[in-house]
Amino acid sequence: MADRAYNFNAGPAALPLEVLRQAQEQFVDFGGTGMSLMEMSHRGKVYESVHYETEKLLRELAGIPDHYKVLFLQGGASTQFAMVPMNLGAPGKVAAYVHTGAWAAKAIKEAKLFGETAIAASTEADAFMRIPSSGELNIPDNAAYLHVTSNETIGGVQWKEYPDTGSVPLVADMSSDILCRPLNVAQFGLIYAGAQKNLGPSGVTIVIIREDLIGQPAGTVPTMLQYATHAKSGSLYNTPPTFGIYMINLVLKWLQGQGGAAAMERINREKADILYREIDESGGFYRGCAEPGSRSLMNVTFRMADEELEKRFVKESEEAGFVGLKGHRDVGGLRASIYNAVPLESVQALASFMREFKRRNG
Ligand code: PMP
Repeated sequence: MADRAYNFNAGPAALPLEVLRQAQEQFVDFGGTGMSLMEMSHRGKVYESVHYETEKLLRELAGIPDHYKVLFLQGGASTQFAMVPMNLGAPGKVAAYVHTGAWAAKAIKEAKLFGETAIAASTEADAFMRIPSSGELNIPDNAAYLHVTSNETIGGVQWKEYPDTGSVPLVADMSSDILCRPLNVAQFGLIYAGAQKNLGPSGVTIVIIREDLIGQPAGTVPTMLQYATHAKSGSLYNTPPTFGIYMINLVLKWLQGQGGAAAMERINREKADILYREIDESGGFYRGCAEPGSRSLMNVTFRMADEELEKRFVKESEEAGFVGLKGHRDVGGLRASIYNAVPLESVQALASFMREFKRRNG
């Protein structure tokens, strides 16, 4: 750890040190080719083997069935907010959404550009501090799909169990929690995630889509924004983000070395428990934002008595080597993002800092 910061950034976020070192080692000369991977044709054998190996690793780690396609796209998860309704919407159907906070709101706003939408449930009345129960969902009969945000990165709430939507395809934005725990892909019609939190650097967005949903879109959709274009070409229709995909490859191998998604979940629970315990046992000095049953394993959000104290916490934490603890500008407060690659030692160091800060200011 020596000169590494305690990195709690929300995304782009901490990457495994091992991965950074490997990338550094291979940066100038990839596997004796005399070139960086970044300097190679995406149609060449060397890059292609990295590309398809990355897909294979993701299939293994996420348990992706054969009748799903894996796509590596650009434009961030924000472009998926539009691609989902453009491709999955149909005349006479409504796009249904669960409104759980800031990221769900952005997805809904975009879907409204393309047709009728319905809010199947909203937790706005509870300031988005919880995930609705299945019983609260009201899915229209003519829903084209139901969209959920599996982890609200800003609010710090996370789905524990996904709803059974019957024949309505379930679509999930897993940008901030993909592979933080085992996943049953068969429950979903489509999953998407920007890579920059749990999978690698920014610039790549992963889409996992059930083959029967990759039809010809109903409206006029630009070629680059059709899932079919990328599914048919193995995400090589145009130049893919080669370096980002290579970094995902290294992160997935690291994840495999950790024991896969099940082992990752155990470690993530241990990390999250340390911080939530620190909050809960602080006698009200720290106050967790999310309702306990909806607490995120990835983004621990909390507040203190007043903003002055929160400012002091941020300032002093920065002086002590902690990065990224200030809450999102829209909601304030504090947030520790503890994605897969954030080491247990960083979390332990933060818990000690929190205790010490409370002792001095409580
Ligand atoms: N969804 C969620 C849950 C996110 O956390 C983010 C980014 N923080 C996005 C979507 C948007 O991702 P991008 O910046 O890759 O467009």
